[in-house]
Amino acid sequence: MEQLDDSLLQLITETATNLPADVRKALRRAKHAERAGTQADQALAIITLNVDMASDRVSPICQDTGMPTFVIHTPVGVDQMAIRRSVLGAVEEATRRGKLRPNSVDSVTGVNSGLNLGPGTPVVHFEQWEKNEIEALLILKGGGCENKNAQYSLPAELEHVGRAGRDLEGVYRCVMHAVWQAQGQGCSAGFLGVCIGGDRTSGYDHAKMQLFRDVDDTNPNPALAELEERIVRDSNSLGVGTMGFGGGVTLLGCKIGALNRLPASFFVSVAYNCWAFRRLGVRIDPRTGAITRWIFRDAAPERMAESEEIPKTGREFALTTPLSESDVRQLRVGDVVRLTGPMVTGRDAIHKHLTTHDSPVDLNGAALYHCGPVMLKDENGRWQVKAAGPTTSIREEPYQADILRRFHVRAVIGKGGMGAKTLAALRDVGAVYLNAIGGAAQFYAEKITEVTGVDFLEEFGVPEAMWRLNVRDFVAVVTMDSHGGSLHADVESASGEKLELVAAR
Ligand code: SF4
Repeated sequence: MEQLDDSLLQLITETATNLPADVRKALRRAKHAERAGTQADQALAIITLNVDMASDRVSPICQDTGMPTFVIHTPVGVDQMAIRRSVLGAVEEATRRGKLRPNSVDSVTGVNSGLNLGPGTPVVHFEQWEKNEIEALLILKGGGCENKNAQYSLPAELEHVGRAGRDLEGVYRCVMHAVWQAQGQGCSAGFLGVCIGGDRTSGYDHAKMQLFRDVDDTNPNPALAELEERIVRDSNSLGVGTMGFGGGVTLLGCKIGALNRLPASFFVSVAYNCWAFRRLGVRIDPRTGAITRWIFRDAAPERMAESEEIPKTGREFALTTPLSESDVRQLRVGDVVRLTGPMVTGRDAIHKHLTTHDSPVDLNGAALYHCGPVMLKDENGRWQVKAAGPTTSIREEPYQADILRRFHVRAVIGKGGMGAKTLAALRDVGAVYLNAIGGAAQFYAEKITEVTGVDFLEEFGVPEAMWRLNVRDFVAVVTMDSHGGSLHADVESASGEKLELVAAR
């Protein structure tokens, strides 16, 4: 199988950079369903532009390339250990080439292995089958949406949906609750894989496997087919919308499988996948290792974006960093900001560090970007930004208010919004939270004109380092302002009320 290494490298590269045909179709439907001129419409315009940019540049659609998870079917007699070695080699090479972000972190020491290899990374499932060919499926599911997975043990009492019993109505309530609790934090509009039954481990695994079904297939079990349709329809009446900005499209697909369970247990496991739903597959000739056919891939995809221009929402502010208090006090929830000037990245490790240490960068008036980019050095030793979308901000909630107060940061940029402590600090300090469009890693990479430095690279690794950037025309929406306004709190509360009505029907 002399071509196997190359085939697997192609599979990883295409999965990270080229959205599957069925997902593209679902996103087109979403774009047409949203009202023109809304924030959801603007977000979808950026998303579709980003999808085109990623496939044109053969660069990651989203900077979080997730946990590479392979499902490999082999004919009897094929050497699975040799395939595993090829998978590891292909993952390492794809990471070196900037197609995958180094995402494998030692859970004890916090050290990033640098090449996406280590205990549990990548995940490789093998199964034998009767066919005389190899099938390799790959899903790259990022951390933001992985964190919004949910598992329920029935019966349960759940916020807004009430009692969920041990029947399909109870399953419906759990899944609706899962969609609601995700809000925009998993980069909605999302796709769900659901498992009814199994145990805690097999339930989650089977839920994730549902994501290998075609978005437009029909469940062979009529009761589950009906449930899938009902969940998509009702989720789209909640008003969570793209990125949690509100709007008519919250869920793009729901696939439900079932496993037998123990009499005492009734689990419902939900795997939430963001709009950047990256999964492809290949069939491989077991003699040569060559790809004979692609699965899910659009070989010659049509353009997704209807225009290179981002639609205007009516209230747009062009601001230069560092920001003054008056710059941010004029902003209200819903305003669109275009930032130009210096920006610094910081995520989990940096936030923890800054609570007990000084910053190596002056953060007074700064724009602090929750982002773990993909970076590569060029032949001259200069850093090149390969992908740089926002990460989920709520993880920094325990630290953000202290950092705002101590360093006088004026703009926190991320996605999915933050909580009450941060909102109070924004008001006290005079700062705003700007929601960038999650997953739009190419769109934002293009807005970065220069990397001027990096701190903590050795200690924290590429995604967690503090990158000093210059940006031009960096677009984001004010979703939490310095007057106590929070779009996230409003949408969460309004969608919770709608969920109660839907669940009571
Ligand atoms: S699109 Fe959002 S949730 Fe999905 S991998 Fe990217 S950052 Fe994470």
